[in-house]
Amino acid sequence: MNYNIGIVGAGPAGYTAALHAAKRGFSVVLFEKDAVGGVCLNRGCIPTKAILHSAEVFEEIRTAQELGIEVDGAKVDFGKVIERKNQIVAKLRKSLELMIKNSKIVVVNAKAEIADKNTVLANGEEYHFDKIICATGSEPKIIRGMEFDHEKILSSDDVLNLTELPKNIVIVGSGAIGIEWARIFSGFGVEVTVVEAAENLLPMADIDVAKRIERLFKLKKIKFFKGIGVDRIENAESCIVYLSNGEVLEAEKVLVAVGREVKNKDCIEGVNYIGDVCCEIQLAHYAIKQAVEVIDEIPFDKNFVPSVVYGNPEIAWFGKREQDLEQGSYKKSNLLISALGKSQCDNAVDGFIKILTQDNQIVGVHIISKEASSLIQELIIVAQNGISADKLKEICFAHPTYSEGIFEALFNLN
Ligand SMILES: Cc1cc2nc3c(=O)[nH]c(=O)nc-3n(C[C@H](O)[C@H](O)[C@H](O)COP(=O)(O)OP(=O)(O)OC[C@H]3O[C@@H](n4cnc5c(N)ncnc54)[C@H](O)[C@@H]3O)c2cc1C
Repeated sequence: MNYNIGIVGAGPAGYTAALHAAKRGFSVVLFEKDAVGGVCLNRGCIPTKAILHSAEVFEEIRTAQELGIEVDGAKVDFGKVIERKNQIVAKLRKSLELMIKNSKIVVVNAKAEIADKNTVLANGEEYHFDKIICATGSEPKIIRGMEFDHEKILSSDDVLNLTELPKNIVIVGSGAIGIEWARIFSGFGVEVTVVEAAENLLPMADIDVAKRIERLFKLKKIKFFKGIGVDRIENAESCIVYLSNGEVLEAEKVLVAVGREVKNKDCIEGVNYIGDVCCEIQLAHYAIKQAVEVIDEIPFDKNFVPSVVYGNPEIAWFGKREQDLEQGSYKKSNLLISALGKSQCDNAVDGFIKILTQDNQIVGVHIISKEASSLIQELIIVAQNGISADKLKEICFAHPTYSEGIFEALFNLN
């Protein structure tokens, strides 16, 4: 069987490549061993944010008194939370399946193997292509001594299938996944302890962001250890977590969120690798942009990729961190979100907008705020297009908004 393009893996990288290739008139085969949508739709971005929203609403209800609203007897029906999450995933998957079908893409539901740069083997058949794209993604990393038992010692996949909330949980790792789940569980009233081996929580973030997360965690009574690893986890009646400093934690469940790994790293020359499988930036929007780059030949600047950690408040950044810049080579501005009228009205005063510039150009932005995921996009458009900090001062920002915090921050650069 001969086609133009064969794509292995139907996550954001694979399905984007397939849809864009079909739009350009190519004949396309998409191989998927599980469900279309990949990790992002089925086990990642979407299901976690659906559950997070329930946790946020519950947290808001618990603090509604501050806004003059009395709510008695609010409680969580976790079964319904999970049911809603499943419905959202199913609905989005159905519409993706329909888009794929309408685009006349051939879907082969099977594990596929790339034999050479023009051949894919699946279901005992040989498929021949002019071009092959490998978008097989990544899986939760397994660490010795912390192997998942999928019941008490959980991966980020397993945690989505809990039917009841635990009383307490230890989360190993404070990357985006660890921080988001800490916020979800804490929002539902679960006792949470986070263990991070690096010096700071959210180690890839700017130092001020990391410090502020610590403060937020303290406010929300989320316990944490930093600069301390986990030696091993014992699965007894409850989980026993042995820390590198000799301390021992006990919890009903442990979520191990220490990163993602790619099982088969052997690359075949002439095949295009996109998405998580490349082990570059493992984010859905990066995977999508790589797909568009390969199919539509629209390049993108890898220096301007936003990172967002969801929860209340959102955390978002791009570009350089302050700790990476040479002292005296940059200007910075750190506007407290509490200074904004909108934040006071919304009772969302925690956070800041930190802008870093060099020679009047924005080189990094680090935000903790409600709507940070949208604010960061405004500044990426500015920075990637070389619009200077001074030029940005000419823009009129609406009031009262969080965006006007950007305008205010520009006048405090020093
Ligand atoms: C809990 C969690 C939360 C996340 N939240 C976010 C977020 O908020 N924002 C964000 O940008 N990113 C987030 N991510 C990361 C995001 O999910 C990934 O970056 C994204 O899914 C990568 O897309 P991909 O297409 O490269 O791979 P994947 O989504 O992993 O898809 C790969 C697909 O390939 C299939 N496959 C693999 N091998 C074969 C084979 N041999 N034959 C056939 N099919 C095969 C798999 O079944 C899978 O469906 C999150 C991840 C997790 C785990």
